[in-house]
Order: sequence, then C-alpha cells, then structure tokens
Amino acid sequence: MDHIQKRILELKNETLELRRHFHMNPELGFQEFQTADKIENFLQDIGLKTTRMTQTGVVAVLDSGRPGPCLMLRADMDGLPVTEETDLPYKSRNKGVMHACGHDAHMAMLLTAAKVLKENKAPVTGKIKFVFQPNEEIAGAIHMIEDGVLENPKVDAAMGLHVWTPVDSGKIAITPGPVMGGLDVFKITIHGKGGHTGVPEDAVDPVIAAANLIQTAQIIQTREISNLKATVIMFGKIKGGTKSNIIPDKVELEGSIRFLYPGGPESEEKPTQRFIRIAEQVCLTHRCTCDIDIIHENIPLINHAEMTALARETALDVFPSEKDLIDNQTIASEDFSEFSRQVPGVFVFLGAGNDALGANLSHHHPKFNIDETILPKGVEMLVRSAFHFFEKADQLSFLKQNQKERVK
Ligand SMILES: [Zn+2]
Ligand SMILES: [Zn+2]
Repeated sequence: MDHIQKRILELKNETLELRRHFHMNPELGFQEFQTADKIENFLQDIGLKTTRMTQTGVVAVLDSGRPGPCLMLRADMDGLPVTEETDLPYKSRNKGVMHACGHDAHMAMLLTAAKVLKENKAPVTGKIKFVFQPNEEIAGAIHMIEDGVLENPKVDAAMGLHVWTPVDSGKIAITPGPVMGGLDVFKITIHGKGGHTGVPEDAVDPVIAAANLIQTAQIIQTREISNLKATVIMFGKIKGGTKSNIIPDKVELEGSIRFLYPGGPESEEKPTQRFIRIAEQVCLTHRCTCDIDIIHENIPLINHAEMTALARETALDVFPSEKDLIDNQTIASEDFSEFSRQVPGVFVFLGAGNDALGANLSHHHPKFNIDETILPKGVEMLVRSAFHFFEKADQLSFLKQNQKERVK
C-alpha cells in the first residue's frame, strides 16, 4: 500500500461522514445553499480559495505553480423531489427532498480527493479545477459553462464520476464513445373540432389522430434509424376528452425521445426532427393541426478516446483485478455531456450495487441507497486519474493541439 492509498483510508470515516451529512440535508437544484456553504468551508479549511458561480455552484483551483494543463474534476450537488422511504439513521431531514441519485457521495468523494491532492501536489504539473455543480437533474451544467466555468484558468480536460447501483460494488465501468443518452422532451397539442360521437363527420377527431401518432412515431426507431443505434420514443402523458359521447376539440400528449449517439443538430440522423415531421404529417392526414413544443434537455454523453484510455489505465491500478473493469452504457441522460462537448472528457460509473445491503434499487427510487464501502475507491480513482493526467500530458494529442493554439 503506498502513502496515497494509506491517506485515503485514513480519511475513510471523514468521507463517510461527509456523504451522510449531505444525505441528511438534501437540497433541490439551484437551492443548494447549505450544501454550497459546507463545501466552501471544507475547501477553505484545506487552504483552497473558493468562488461561487451560477447561484449555488462552487469552484476551487489547485495551482501547482508550474506551467501545464488544467484538469477539471466535477461533482454534482442536487437532490431530487423524492420523499425518502428508508429507515437509515442518516435519512433525509428535508421532507420531500432526497439524495436519491448518489450526488451526496460524489461531493464527499471529490472533497476528500481535493484534500489528498492538496497534500500531494508534487505530481501535479499544472492546475486542477474542482467544480461542484448545481442542478444536474435539470441540465444545470450549461449554465455554469455560460458563466465561464471552463475559463480562467482554461480547462483542457474534464472527468466526472457517478456511483451506479446497476453495477456491482467492487467494479468500475469505463467505456469510450457514447455512454449516456441524449434527451428531448416533447409536448404536443392536437387541435380538431369537437362534436357528437354519433355524428363524427361533422367533427374533426383529435383522439384518432393522437392514437395514430403514438403508433406511427415508433417507425423512427424501427424503420428510419439503424436498429444498432439505440433510440427510445415514449409517450408518458395523454390528456383529452370529458365524456364517452363527446368528441373533444383537442388532445394533449407529452413524452420523451432518447438516443445513444450524437443525434443533435450537427448529426445527419435527428430523431427529434423526424418526430416533428411525422407529428405534423399525421395531424394533417387527420385534418387536425398541432402545436409542438420541444424541450431540449441533454445531449448524449460521449467519452473521449484518450481520456477514457487514461481512466481505464488508472482503474487497473486502483482495482485489484482486470475483471473489475467493465463496460457500461445507459440511455438515461446526464448533463456532464455539456462539459465533454466542450473539452475532452471521461465519465466513469463506480459500481455501488450490493444486494446484501439492499443497495440494489434504481437511481431516483425512494429507497435508493449505495454500498458506502466503495467511497475510498472513488476517491482513489479521482486522485490517481489526476496524477496520470499530468504524468501522461505530453502524450495526449489534444493537449499538444491546445498548446499550439495558445502559442499562436
Ligand atoms: Zn439522477
Ligand atoms: Zn445523478
């Protein structure tokens, strides 16, 4: 055991206490005021200067004083509007709000990592920017980017880590390419003309148009986009009508479009644009009109090849066996994607599932919990990935490119 691992284990209880403190005191997105205070106090106590950004975000920079690249390490801060149903001694004290996604663990691990890195600056040739980001559940990252989190100092690469109960504790999943889905939410109002169900020819029925649209939209995934590219179109809400013998004048539909490949505006295959075309044409076929509202939530999270290779190499140092390093993709979405769109990034899933501990429920569940014994491994991944990043800096092609551009 080297001195880094020894130090992380010495700090095991402190990490655990931090996680439980955050778990007990969850706050919703952009309301993480006490959470931000706790983070700032901790970082200031270890000798880092902090800045508030984007309402409740906290940023601190560890500057080695030597020239070199800047690596961003990010943790998210928000809880969810979920009423906790566990019997844990550290159960949420904020009724109706719960850390049901594991962001409590992310903050605890990054704080301990900051402490260990601050104490062990020797391998850091450049800067590390610790970013505590508010409101991950509702796409908070983009607001931090707009507020300049990637500037001053300019961030060259980013790493994020998510505890993940679908992966067993003791394992870590690091995969190049798309690892989490893009998400667009749609709201449609189909307008027809109300009337008597006995005289449908005098009305324009929006119900049959809605039924047809729900079916026809599925051809996007089965006929228009390769089945090797995961696409999910779900309708989560249908609202229309008042009585069995009345044709309503409108039907409202809401749902989500998810895709695990670059499906944004730059891409050739745009599931959301296809959806709009089909919705408009189906409504036209039924003599209806429609209002379509698209709420763009997240772009897909794409792991950069070189950063992924770096994290995988690190995992082989941190975890006992090669078998502990696995692959994982999910079509659920995550706003770290906004950072990795701007700079080469890697997002890692730290296995946190453990049947024996009841830590086997899906994220966002009211009884969600993680296997806390994994926390030191998460800290070590963050610390050693940072060391690796600086050690390998002269071999990373995107850093060479950045340097060239800065010299120009
Ligand atoms: Zn979540
Ligand atoms: Zn999350």
